[in-house]
Amino acid sequence: LIDIKDIKRDFQLGSETINVLKGIDLKINKGEYVALMGPSGSGKSTLMNLLGCLDTPTSGTYILNNKDVSQMVDDELAEIRNKEIGFVFQTFNLLPRTTALDNVALPMIYAGYSKTDRTERAKEVLNQVGLGDRMDHQPNQLSGGQRQRVAVARALVNKPSIILADEPTGNLDSKTSVEIMKLFNEIHANGNTVILVTHEEDIAQHAHRIIRLRDGLIESDNQNK
Ligand code: ATP
Ligand code: MG
Repeated sequence: LIDIKDIKRDFQLGSETINVLKGIDLKINKGEYVALMGPSGSGKSTLMNLLGCLDTPTSGTYILNNKDVSQMVDDELAEIRNKEIGFVFQTFNLLPRTTALDNVALPMIYAGYSKTDRTERAKEVLNQVGLGDRMDHQPNQLSGGQRQRVAVARALVNKPSIILADEPTGNLDSKTSVEIMKLFNEIHANGNTVILVTHEEDIAQHAHRIIRLRDGLIESDNQNK
């Protein structure tokens, strides 16, 4: 599913070049459940943004579903992203003053589905994440855990090949975090590929493979189950 070879990502800060990812090799198969860990600044979010086709590498190749996405231009990348990737953020990134249903249905507009199809599918995924009774609520009328469920439903709505989550429990208390992790476990059990970033060991223990980054390189990569 994912085949990354010698990926590097540099950032230019004024006259200075920062080498954030220094040569990452990584293969992830369909259906894997991966936790990405490592110190702050080690490059986790930078790698997730590459995996999620929000960014392209400075050098190296990224083959996603047999397609080389490493050299794609913005429009092509956006299309791949909409089709293949479901992204969940630490800060939920929902549209305010927009119902849970409309937030979830939004990616389907870009994918060109009819209104009837969008509503039907959005209801289906909201039910799947346990929010069948909150479809007409706006984000500010929902708890943090419920907001993150909406974000997870939105990530699932176009049936992507990969669910990526960058510290999805980072803004949640520990009880709510456990509930969100149960949801990711279910999503994985349904056959999805899940890759998530976390700082917390007990969150990472849900995954079947734990990859640790340090200073822009993979420090360790171990099966967990
Ligand atoms: P955290 O655990 O704090 O989220 P992280 O492992 O996700 O950290 P990244 O966000 O990937 O770390 O950042 C890695 C390094 O790259 C940091 O030193 C950061 O300052 C730098 N960096 C990230 N994005 C950019 C950018 N757009 N321009 C310049 N530097 C950047
Ligand atoms: Mg980060």
